[in-house]
Amino acid sequence: MYTIAIHGGAGVISRENLLPEEEKLYLEGLAEALDAGYKLLEVGENALDAVEAAVTLLEDNMLFNAGRGSVFNSDGKIDMEASIMWGETLEAGAVCGIRNVKNPIQLAKAVMENSPHVFLNGSGAEDFAREIGLPFEEDGYFYTTRRYEELRKAKENVFAGQFAGKHFGTVGAVALDRYGNVAAATSTGGSTNKAYGRIGDSPLIGSGTYANNRTCAVSCTGDGEYFMRSVAAYDISCLMEYKFLSLQEACELVIMDKMVRLGGEGGAIAVDTLGNATLVFNSPGMYRGYRKEFGEAEVAIY
Ligand code: ASP
Repeated sequence: MYTIAIHGGAGVISRENLLPEEEKLYLEGLAEALDAGYKLLEVGENALDAVEAAVTLLEDNMLFNAGRGSVFNSDGKIDMEASIMWGETLEAGAVCGIRNVKNPIQLAKAVMENSPHVFLNGSGAEDFAREIGLPFEEDGYFYTTRRYEELRKAKENVFAGQFAGKHFGTVGAVALDRYGNVAAATSTGGSTNKAYGRIGDSPLIGSGTYANNRTCAVSCTGDGEYFMRSVAAYDISCLMEYKFLSLQEACELVIMDKMVRLGGEGGAIAVDTLGNATLVFNSPGMYRGYRKEFGEAEVAIY
């Protein structure tokens, strides 16, 4: 039974701080990305292409913190990161600290498929993107007033000695195809006002992204530092592989128990090889959706 699930980030998202028209746009963006991935699975394409297609659309949508809608670093620049993993072979590709590449997830996939490496960073990753002909965009394409305002506020708060506020967000997709293969993809602009070349969990295989045909595919979102320290995505897979937990049990243990005890906020989406989809979060909301063969589907925020 083929299945796809996506997320557009988790955090303090409540009905009170989202206008009805904004809510509608988020739900439409999620549905559009979900359908793009699902349609590929429906016509017999594999899970890897499905997660890439879904994440590409989320990156192109400026509402989400990835690709076009990425948040700003403390220096007013935008550094993006992404990773992808293929459960059949455990092959993976990842990039971080990249600028102006239109779709970081496509670059991560190209690293996996067309290079001998797994993880490329900064100008080297950009050179590779140019060599293989991936599209680049000017700074203006990535600039959104809303994100710039978030940076300004975060800086003001830091200056006033107050908590800078959490401005996270990430997009991700996981899928099972009709051949029994799972794949996971995650892409982000990271956290607002990040400094000193900070990298989060999203491009780290095992932390933000993991896929293994023996267990499941996982994409995480939330406080990256906590997801890195708990190697969250791999932990979920390990609980299934070595402790025989179900997908739901494994996700709940990591996100609702371990992560909460550490103090980390966020969520994960996952699919297993039986076609189950699990979307869990310990934050007030997570932009999310899933769709399964035979019609079961949902997009939701809170
Ligand atoms: N995990 C991402 C990071 O720390 C942000 C997020 O998912 O909201 O960069």
